Amino acid sequence: MAVTVIQWTWRILPNGTLIKGYTFNPWWGCLKVSEECHHCYAEDIAHHYGHEVWGPASTTSRRVFREKHWQEPRAWNRQAKKQGHRRSVFCASIILPMSPWGKGTWPDNVWVGTSVGVQKRAEERVPYLLEIPAVVRFLSCEPLLGSLDLSPWISQLQWVISGGESGYEARPMNMEWPRSLRDQCQEAQVPYFFKQIGGRYHDSGGRELDGRTWDEIPPEFPIGCLT
Ligand code: SF4
Repeated sequence: MAVTVIQWTWRILPNGTLIKGYTFNPWWGCLKVSEECHHCYAEDIAHHYGHEVWGPASTTSRRVFREKHWQEPRAWNRQAKKQGHRRSVFCASIILPMSPWGKGTWPDNVWVGTSVGVQKRAEERVPYLLEIPAVVRFLSCEPLLGSLDLSPWISQLQWVISGGESGYEARPMNMEWPRSLRDQCQEAQVPYFFKQIGGRYHDSGGRELDGRTWDEIPPEFPIGCLT
């Protein structure tokens, strides 16, 4: 839909140029399924625009975007080809593990991840994620609401992102939680991205963990996927 402020979609080219990523969703609407969803910002935005699209699909409508909307990613792709580098697009924040793409051939330019804010969610979701043969499988540990032990799965993950919650009622994050994730990633040599400490606004607490930022991103893979 637009250039995004989500830093983990940004890339820096070898010449130092910053390329910001995009967000794109084929539909609008979701269902709160766990404690991580309590303060869902996407729901707040939908309410702001007068759309009642959060709730069970059986009783709540979804707003599905039409053909005009699909012209945007096509335009980004044309631009990327012209400039010779890819754009990162955060697309469709819901994934169905049993979809036709789930266990079969997975497009080689698609990275797939799941949200995990507490240990229980990791145990529920990561096994499904690991069934998907994507080139990069990642966790978005946001909002991080507790300590996570990723040891059963970390050797099969290619990226871990974490961050605290933001918003009026943001739940505070204990810095030991992202610190532990960073340490687990370092030991397993998995790229680690620390998005934010959180607070009332997304930048209230800054982005530093132990005196520096952590912006590790998996390498572009596979090479030449624009062609
Ligand atoms: S799954 Fe994501 S988009 Fe859906 S309600 Fe939860 S936080 Fe919001």
